[in-house]
Amino acid sequence: MIQRDRLLNTFLELVKIPGESRHEAAVADYLASLFTQLGLSPEFDTVQEYTSGNCSNMHITIPGTVEEPPLLISAHMDTVPTGGEVVPIVEEGYVRSAKDTILGADDRAGLAQIVEVVRVLREHSLSHPPLRVVITVAEEIGLLGARYCSISEKDAHMGLVLDTTGPMGKIVYQAPFHDAWRISVRGKSAHAGIAPEDGINAIHRCSSLLERIPTGRLSQDTTANIGRITGGTADNIVAEEVTIHGEVRSTAETNTETFHAQMRLLCNELEQRDNLPCTYTTHREYSGYTHDRASELIQRISNAVSACGYPPTLASTGGGSDANYFTAHGIPTAVISCGMNKVHTYDEEIALSDLYDTAKILLAFILGEK
Ligand SMILES: [Zn+2]
Repeated sequence: MIQRDRLLNTFLELVKIPGESRHEAAVADYLASLFTQLGLSPEFDTVQEYTSGNCSNMHITIPGTVEEPPLLISAHMDTVPTGGEVVPIVEEGYVRSAKDTILGADDRAGLAQIVEVVRVLREHSLSHPPLRVVITVAEEIGLLGARYCSISEKDAHMGLVLDTTGPMGKIVYQAPFHDAWRISVRGKSAHAGIAPEDGINAIHRCSSLLERIPTGRLSQDTTANIGRITGGTADNIVAEEVTIHGEVRSTAETNTETFHAQMRLLCNELEQRDNLPCTYTTHREYSGYTHDRASELIQRISNAVSACGYPPTLASTGGGSDANYFTAHGIPTAVISCGMNKVHTYDEEIALSDLYDTAKILLAFILGEK
């Protein structure tokens, strides 16, 4: 049922359309015209108020032909900076970029697969549950489209996002909680040449903390990092303030709490030692999820993968995706591999067989094949 040439053609058209984060309007126009030709009515929400982009998320509601709860299907339309005009070439069973640019299979592959499957559903009048297709914006710059998407458990019972690398059949059933943290270390400024004894150097204070901050893989399910240090104003001024910027991720929320408690303790110790402020703040970037292997969602995806001849492989990831937010909005959502490979690099590619077979898996998921 999946028409390979048509799917490939849609994919090649899509990767040629520029659509870096916050500049997705041309991609949205192209997709909206395709869905409109299929007799559907694409609608846009208002997330661009939050993203400052030129486009909002696109929503397509497709009535079901069977009495079942609605399914959410999603992919994102933005790409990371391409490096130039994308010219796709098909060679040796792969699509690659002919020039020094990314290909943009992340996530145009997912978009093309969704379009092809919706076409197949319409032209074959297949029996399927109601569908809510959400094509998000600004995924690559912090999942902003999904974060501010007003969607809830009333709109869909479970969801599938097509947006990860890896072999066919990979199902991301688990993704971490992700918190950003900041330590602000105060000192006291003074002229470094005239009155250094009047100053207290925030950089020195900061250095006594750095070695004690746990980073790297802290346990099997927890990672932490110091990403940046900013502060000081000039070579001739004793540094008055330094900020250490970092993150912590864990699939177990309690581990992020333990990390924060440990960090607060370090900051309190420094504050008491010098009698100068050292403040610790955190910000939740996104919540994690762990779907039960026996859940309806994971079972339905696994069945679809098996029906297409691949072994379902449950994977835990260290990164976030739109699925984190859809799950947080009340729609349990997982991610599957959609064939893209070496994403965000000029070596990005997708195997034609994976491009096609992901569409088959998506169709099997919607039809509830076993
Ligand atoms: Zn992506």
